[in-house]
Amino acid sequence: MAVRTGAQFLEGLRDGREIWLEGERVEDVTAHPKLERMAQTLASVYDLQHDPELHEQMTFKSPSSGEPVALSYIIPETQDDLMRRRKALEIVAHASYGMLGRAPDYVNIQVTAARQMAKVYGENDGRFSDNIIAYHEYIRENDVCLTHTFGHPQVNRELAVTELSDPYIALGVVDTTSEGLIVSGSKLLATLAPFSDEIFAPIYRPLPPNDPNSEKYAIGFALPVATPGLKFICRESYDLGRSLYDYPLSGQFDEMDALAVFDNVLIPWDRVFAHGDVELGNRNLGRVALWRQYMQQVAVKNIAKLEFVLGITHGIAEAIGITQYGHVQEKISEIIDTLETVRAYMRAAEADAEHIEGGVGIWPGAEPWIAMRHWWPDAYTRIMWIIGQLAAGGLMLTPTEQDVEGPISDSIAKFYQGAAIDGPERVRLFRLAWDLVGTQFGSRQALYERFFNGDVTQLRMRRFQTYDYTRADQSVKSFFENL
Ligand SMILES: Cc1cc2nc3c(=O)[nH]c(=O)nc-3n(C[C@H](O)[C@H](O)[C@H](O)COP(=O)(O)OP(=O)(O)OC[C@H]3O[C@@H](n4cnc5c(N)ncnc54)[C@H](O)[C@@H]3O)c2cc1C
Repeated sequence: MAVRTGAQFLEGLRDGREIWLEGERVEDVTAHPKLERMAQTLASVYDLQHDPELHEQMTFKSPSSGEPVALSYIIPETQDDLMRRRKALEIVAHASYGMLGRAPDYVNIQVTAARQMAKVYGENDGRFSDNIIAYHEYIRENDVCLTHTFGHPQVNRELAVTELSDPYIALGVVDTTSEGLIVSGSKLLATLAPFSDEIFAPIYRPLPPNDPNSEKYAIGFALPVATPGLKFICRESYDLGRSLYDYPLSGQFDEMDALAVFDNVLIPWDRVFAHGDVELGNRNLGRVALWRQYMQQVAVKNIAKLEFVLGITHGIAEAIGITQYGHVQEKISEIIDTLETVRAYMRAAEADAEHIEGGVGIWPGAEPWIAMRHWWPDAYTRIMWIIGQLAAGGLMLTPTEQDVEGPISDSIAKFYQGAAIDGPERVRLFRLAWDLVGTQFGSRQALYERFFNGDVTQLRMRRFQTYDYTRADQSVKSFFENL
């Protein structure tokens, strides 16, 4: 099939999937008033691949079919491959102003990275290597859109999943048949689920090694979203159905997040990537560093987002005549520094790309990505704070489009004008800023940037426990020796 069009993508979503939103089962996500605009946004992402000016930059020749396929599926072998993939990522990220954390390229790269580590998945059973290789080829050739679920439900973090009161709160194997595994339980958190064709769920959390009950939870797999027995329970929608003047971001980029719930779902054997091997599953957590690949998408998205945020902040400062104040200049410079820091992390990781044990292709350097991953949530929070600090009460001078165009438009023109901007334009700019920092959509963006890539608190604890302190300790030792 090669690269899909937006229309083909939308058609694929009309498949009887079980999506629950605000108390109702959604019949057709492409026609639901609170989901259709996001579906259209993603369709436009697929259409980019067919733009004659972009097609070459977004595709490469499939090694199996020879057809042009999306660059997010490429197994990077060289620096040139990494640069080509980055260019394709940039096109999507800039087209969506960095607002789509989960453009399809994110999980495409994840699965590609898993395929790069196929050997270790199949270390004790070669079928699992074959399955992930075949699955990667399948999604590449069919240009599949994926959601993914790494976590167990947030019920009681004091207990291991094996200790929960009901063994099928977390996703576990109920039965093993000749056709495959029967599973029940739930997994979090499936961003993009209503708009995805498939769900990817590798083992990504450690299991108690000496507990015989762990085996049933040691499963990695992928399935179509429209599999019988599989349902997705969405949070409420942040697309209020309002005009894009009023909600320019909420109305276009609400990716949606959902809990995946499985009720005696069959996972066919050819879709199983891990089963019952707790020791291997735990060991692979340290070896299968999917993030070393998908962080390139994260960095590109962050750069696009920061350029957009910088433009908004600069626009606000100019609009209300505050650019001459030193502290305002300093705060806007902080955003520039953050933007350039992300770019530097990305270039360092790409430059440090290397072969790794057990994997094929090259892998961007780990250290720059780890540092960026740990630093980014606070950096983003700080930038959102800066916007609030500079826009101040202006974020509340945000009447709606109806006000701007209605009987009080004269008042809007007079009292909402800025130093260098007319009333309606200023309201539009400040409403955009509010959608970024203040609406439900904006709050979710901030929460996303804090947690989408794991819990930094725990990641830093692990960093503390595993870091090689040799050089640091030696440095102090030599200092005292040289006194
Ligand atoms: C908007 C959004 C989108 C997301 N999209 C996806 C997605 O598409 N796919 C996916 O798989 N995941 C996704 N996630 C989930 C994300 O990976 C998790 O939120 C993250 O890993 C943290 O896990 P948790 O939410 O279960 O928090 P918890 O692990 O329950 O943590 C809650 C709090 O308890 C603390 N805590 C818990 N356990 C410990 C411990 N052992 N030691 C110390 N402190 C602890 C944490 O530090 C935190 O403060 C998304 C999250 C968000 C917010």
